Amino acid sequence: MKSEEILLIDLNMEIHKKYFIVNWILNDDSFAVPGKNLFFLIDQSTKKISNNTLEISKRSIEKCIQFIRQKTNKNIVFNFFGGEFFRQSEIKELYMLLKKNNCKTAIVANHFHKLQYWENISGLLDFITLNYHADYMNIETALSIVDYLRKNSIVSVNILMLDKSFKKSRAAGEKIIESFPEVIVRFHAINQNNLDFTFWFFREKLKSISYSKEQKEEIRNLIIYARERILKLNLAEKWYQGFVSSFTRDGQSLASLPEELCLKGKNNLDGWLCWAGQEQLTVDAFGNVFRAACFQDWLGNLNGKEVKWPALPIICNRKNCNNYFDMVGKKQPYIDYNTENIKKLAKMFK
Ligand code: SF4
Repeated sequence: MKSEEILLIDLNMEIHKKYFIVNWILNDDSFAVPGKNLFFLIDQSTKKISNNTLEISKRSIEKCIQFIRQKTNKNIVFNFFGGEFFRQSEIKELYMLLKKNNCKTAIVANHFHKLQYWENISGLLDFITLNYHADYMNIETALSIVDYLRKNSIVSVNILMLDKSFKKSRAAGEKIIESFPEVIVRFHAINQNNLDFTFWFFREKLKSISYSKEQKEEIRNLIIYARERILKLNLAEKWYQGFVSSFTRDGQSLASLPEELCLKGKNNLDGWLCWAGQEQLTVDAFGNVFRAACFQDWLGNLNGKEVKWPALPIICNRKNCNNYFDMVGKKQPYIDYNTENIKKLAKMFK
């Protein structure tokens, strides 16, 4: 009988092992609540990024590049979250700084934005991830924006499968696929345990989502369809972060999108060894550096004395690895020999 028990998760493609990803949270809007102005970098009196904080961000980015380059010669990709509220003329300075330092720039936009938002910056972005909510933007506008962005950047669209607009969401994804064969399209079930990075406006709405049995099945099929399409068209090779390979006890290995593992409940990695930190880092709006977006291991602050390089893996202490960025990386069950389990383990490695 085949055993689906996973003994190792790792990056699927060699090309992705050459990238070091920094998930950079630009402001704390995703953690903010309506009515409270918590936007970190914005000066509330002028509603602009204050020069002071912009300078701090630039310095932090430069320190971060230096820190990573002392340890690895991988290509660095800065992946920004939470830039929604910035004036593009200002945030552009951060993107230009990365270009100057030969780093790649990626952003995750919580929604599509109007064309004007992109006009000033699209030439500076290597990778753009757009989250599509069928209830908030019609497909024609979305198509025109993807069409504009794909000329200068590699584009990936996440279709957020809304329970009440299920057909509309699916049709939108299919329309984008049909129109742009080179665009990555992924279908996402809303994971209520993973809304931290979602802009509060959407987060409140998404909290109440509940899928029927049929809808869950359909999402599963759409994710497999997306995976097969991405593989067939070699789209993952153009992107900075790809599939994971899961190696099972019976020696099989399967390329999966991280959302597939989450949907199958294979993301309970509590007690596993995790190499996050050696392949990617997460930096919050205050310069705090963590191995991953699960915030398990604080490594220091870029504006402080020192940041510790995570030379060794850690033992995961989270109930689930919910963030799709965190899931993509090397992980394996921690094996601790003791008198109770030694027989079982001996059998396992026969
Ligand atoms: S939750 Fe954090 S520590 Fe645990 S496996 Fe995921 S990235 Fe690693």
